[in-house]
Amino acid sequence: MSRMEAAILEIIAAIKAGERALDAAWLDKLVRRHNRAAHDANRRVAKRRLLPYYLGVKRSDPQRWATWEVDAATEEALLRLLKMKPRRTASGVATITVITKPWPCSSDCLYCPNDVRMPKSYLSNEPACQRAERNYFDPYLQVYSRLTALSEMGHVTDKVELIVLGGTWGDYPEEYQTWFVTELFRALNDFGAPAIEGDGPERRDARYRACGATYDKETIAQRTEACQRAVSAGELTYNQAIRELNARAESRDIATWQTATLADLKREHQKNEDAAHRVVGLCIETRPDLIDEGRLRAMRLLGCTKVQMGIQSLDQATLQANRRNVTVEQISHAFSLLRLYGYKIQIHMMVNLLGMTPDADRADYLRLVRDERFLPDEIKLYPCCLVESSRLRAYYERGEWQPYAEDVLVDVLVDDVLATPAYVRISRMIRDISTTDIVAGNKKTNLRQMVEQKVAKSGRPVQEIREREVSLANVDPMSLHMDCVTYHTAVSEERFLQWVTEDNRIAGFCRLSLPLDRGEAMIREVHVYGRVARIHATERGGAQHTGLGKQLVEEACAQARDMGYDAINVISSVGTRNYYRALGFADGDLYQRRVLDEQN
Ligand code: SF4
Repeated sequence: MSRMEAAILEIIAAIKAGERALDAAWLDKLVRRHNRAAHDANRRVAKRRLLPYYLGVKRSDPQRWATWEVDAATEEALLRLLKMKPRRTASGVATITVITKPWPCSSDCLYCPNDVRMPKSYLSNEPACQRAERNYFDPYLQVYSRLTALSEMGHVTDKVELIVLGGTWGDYPEEYQTWFVTELFRALNDFGAPAIEGDGPERRDARYRACGATYDKETIAQRTEACQRAVSAGELTYNQAIRELNARAESRDIATWQTATLADLKREHQKNEDAAHRVVGLCIETRPDLIDEGRLRAMRLLGCTKVQMGIQSLDQATLQANRRNVTVEQISHAFSLLRLYGYKIQIHMMVNLLGMTPDADRADYLRLVRDERFLPDEIKLYPCCLVESSRLRAYYERGEWQPYAEDVLVDVLVDDVLATPAYVRISRMIRDISTTDIVAGNKKTNLRQMVEQKVAKSGRPVQEIREREVSLANVDPMSLHMDCVTYHTAVSEERFLQWVTEDNRIAGFCRLSLPLDRGEAMIREVHVYGRVARIHATERGGAQHTGLGKQLVEEACAQARDMGYDAINVISSVGTRNYYRALGFADGDLYQRRVLDEQN
């Protein structure tokens, strides 16, 4: 019997015995007692996992659950005891990452993993990938199961940011794209609803199984084994293997119903405006050469607000050496279009690619954050690692590529952090790859912490957003003041309005874009850190207080008006449309818009 099961059985017995003092302190003691002899960290009892564990057994192993003999009254008491107070994430927004199905990619970069169970560049060991595989890569089931898990862990999920990852979005058929996003919204609208129209999670699961699909890891491994072996031996490319797997009867049957119309999507969007789980951000991952006006319009109609774009390097020779079929010119064009269309721009950049040196990496990063053609809003900064299935392996074995030594890598990243301007957030420094999949390269999961410690030791000021984000403990919301950082890009003047404390900690911000062609101004992002927003609301009191977010929007409108713009747009998310309507914005085709005159 596992420790978790033993703990649950003891709790059930205590409830049945009518013990009186069954509260959080009693539960803490019980957990400590069960962990005393546990040397293996993975086998320890975690208080927050008791409820998901109980519900998981009840759902997936009803026979075992029946042996626990839990009657209705005991279960009610058990749920009451195990349910922790609802928690919000620091930003006040729950993030749900979903993965698209395995699909050929129109590039074939050297360092990119070739796991045929996954969309290109992902590995089946990554947490979000495991979830996706357990749910047949179905968007509805992925969201539904994540919402279930988050709720069971006591998280508040009324505001959700959806992140769509996997291969390259632009390579998927348009009807699959529309279906995928429609189903994301449908899951959020259905979750917790008393009655679900159409396919709920159980019927959907049965539908996949009826087509011959499985979520059993062993069976999936067996079914894909021959293809994976052929890819690893260089007899098949990843794309050829995926085409072969997707041509199998079960995949073809499933693909026939993975389609939706824009009318279906619109219906789910409208429901989501007032749903209990609203989408406050939708991020889609793609590649710069697959960004054009048509695609950006299409993504906007889906409700996309942020684009994650793989750059990896701004050095043409390095892009070529790593077999990335993208030019620096295409990257710069993509930046300009994304900005003019109002998207938040998150990019991936890699250090230690084939052909780079530490100094060349530093210079590349400076180009990214100083050259007017680029200047992203958010960066995922990944050191290149060798994973077993990538073509980089041959270069490693010939001694043509080597990972940097740890101290060299940390020094490069320290310099990158210090060079990052005030309007940029470095969201990540490592990928969620399991260390067992890494043949060579950084395996330290606390790499960012190591970098931060060295940055702190340097005593040099840090402008980067994530390092400056306030926490509940050290901010007095009444002491905030608004500051404006102005910078220029190839197509716009950008104003980064930020709420900061006296020591330059950041509590919220707004990205205002003023296009040089004198069209209409654009608000690309408004973000107030959830905890600050709540304290601010509490301390100022209901009716009179003006929210920090609203003040940012009003300031952006005032600045745009002063600069001679007649109207301002906001790239709102489906779940924030009501908020902007209340601020005087009217619905448009792609954006919400406010006319700027003397009164507005
Ligand atoms: S474009 Fe992205 S997914 Fe495609 S091969 Fe390159 S890194 Fe992999």
